[in-house]
Amino acid sequence: MGRKFFVGGNWKCISNSYSNFELILFLFIFLLKNGTTEEVKKIVSTLNDGQVPSQDVVEVVISPPFVFLPLVKSILRPDFHVAAQNCWVKKGGAFTGEVSAEMLVNLDIPWVILGHSERRLILGESNEFVADKVAYALSQGLKVIACVGETLEQRESGSTVDVVAAQTKAIAGAYLVSYESSILHIHGHLIVDAINKKVSNWANVVLAYEPVWAIGTGKVATPAQAQEVHFELRKWLQANVSPDVAATTRIIYGGSVNAANSKELAAKPDVDGFLVGGASLKPEFIDIIKSAEVKNA
Ligand code: PEP
Repeated sequence: MGRKFFVGGNWKCISNSYSNFELILFLFIFLLKNGTTEEVKKIVSTLNDGQVPSQDVVEVVISPPFVFLPLVKSILRPDFHVAAQNCWVKKGGAFTGEVSAEMLVNLDIPWVILGHSERRLILGESNEFVADKVAYALSQGLKVIACVGETLEQRESGSTVDVVAAQTKAIAGAYLVSYESSILHIHGHLIVDAINKKVSNWANVVLAYEPVWAIGTGKVATPAQAQEVHFELRKWLQANVSPDVAATTRIIYGGSVNAANSKELAAKPDVDGFLVGGASLKPEFIDIIKSAEVKNA
């Protein structure tokens, strides 16, 4: 079975993907409109009016900041889905400022982005911490866009594949640990259930390769660079998880994707879609979604 094209729109903290000129314009419009809610509605309305391929061809997931999730979910077209940009690493409790996976499930938010490089690098999230988050979110029934990617320094030192393999290994490993511990806590026939969960959980993971040097910089990876790393990641999954998981897991590219470069990137055999930051706030996001058609051409 083919891998369905996947396009995620990461709105981040909204204004940070704008150039200085755009930011001034954005703030002016924001002040005129007396609140970002109006801006959010405008972006959603552009998405809702867009002509895109059917859900059989492309899966679209929009990720606004937490505070706008209920609003976006309530007004977004039904063929698009929503994702949170993060969640807490375990069950909710006395963790001021955090949002738990249970809360997202309760609000019917199906997806969460975890391990974004802005959280790894700015907030110091380690491979293990990201991996624990992925395991916990999956255990609660969320689907996960798990991000991996190397810095410019790591690329220039030739360690790109080692870095993304280590990040993926942590995610896969935590997954196996949580699977093992579920066996410890489950008796007799329910072990079979745990095994089934392991298999179905991988179907709930989209791996996003996002080279840090390409995020928000306007410096996109070439299609050949993206294909090379996606191929290596698939090879890693094949050797370390299973040939089936390698064949079915979607590996998407993120880093300065826009309407002008998305078709060429989408044409690469191991590029199964995109995670888009800045351009997901603009009308050109519709054209990026349409690049899914390249796979069927
Ligand atoms: C991102 O934030 O995940 C991202 C890829 O950003 P941009 O498209 O702006 O580079």
